Amino acid sequence: MKNYHTHTYRCKHAVGTVEDYVQAAIENDVQVLGMSDHTPFPNDSHWLKVRMAYEELEAYCKEIDEAKEKYKEIKILKGFECEYLKEYHEFYKEVLLGQHEADYLILAGHQIFGTSPWNLRGEVKSLKEELRLYADYLVKGMETGLFTFVAHPDVFGTFYLNWDEEALAASKYIIEAAKAYHMPLEVNGYGLRKPEITTEQGVRRMYPLHGFWELAGHYDIEVLANSDAHKPSDIISNIEEGYKIASTYGLHKKFEIIR
Ligand SMILES: [Zn+2]
Ligand SMILES: [Zn+2]
Repeated sequence: MKNYHTHTYRCKHAVGTVEDYVQAAIENDVQVLGMSDHTPFPNDSHWLKVRMAYEELEAYCKEIDEAKEKYKEIKILKGFECEYLKEYHEFYKEVLLGQHEADYLILAGHQIFGTSPWNLRGEVKSLKEELRLYADYLVKGMETGLFTFVAHPDVFGTFYLNWDEEALAASKYIIEAAKAYHMPLEVNGYGLRKPEITTEQGVRRMYPLHGFWELAGHYDIEVLANSDAHKPSDIISNIEEGYKIASTYGLHKKFEIIR
């Protein structure tokens, strides 16, 4: 079992230290544990309440480096889950990947308190526009070459409730970019643990979206399933279920980070 998507108390909406996750991982026979807390930004300007503060960066990296030294029985990787903002391109490249020798960066998009990296001032009012901007944002992030995989590409299911032509078009745009840029897509376990929502088309999960993965199944792309653990006891939660969804739609190419 491998899990490349793990948070810590530092993002303020998860619990547990790096060591807590390492121990949970060892207990559950995890061979590769990727730590990937929500990235800090150099000037603390965005979403500070739900991600690591910049001043925590050193300590987070140190904690992972120490765990790598201490626990030789498990492969531990240093990563970050990132919102891509162009102004921080150099920070991701020079500081996280360079100076701090991060093993990988995850590209993700979240709507946080009504704003997001594709709608920074919360000014976008139409859901269709929001969806198009999200897809565009994700593809632009893939193009940078900074990221190793995309977390929950179908997370737009949290705000765009209908599965319709627009949803299909956005999904297609994302999946075709993933194919073109050889970017693996993640079936996210946290989505599988979140409560279902009621839409005009019935009750469903916010994400993963079956329509998205069904479409993805028509393309030759790599996938991975992660727990997206926000507490140590969830270290392997829903990973198998995630891979089951992928294989239901013919997605059998499992992505692994080799380091
Ligand atoms: Zn989180
Ligand atoms: Zn996420």
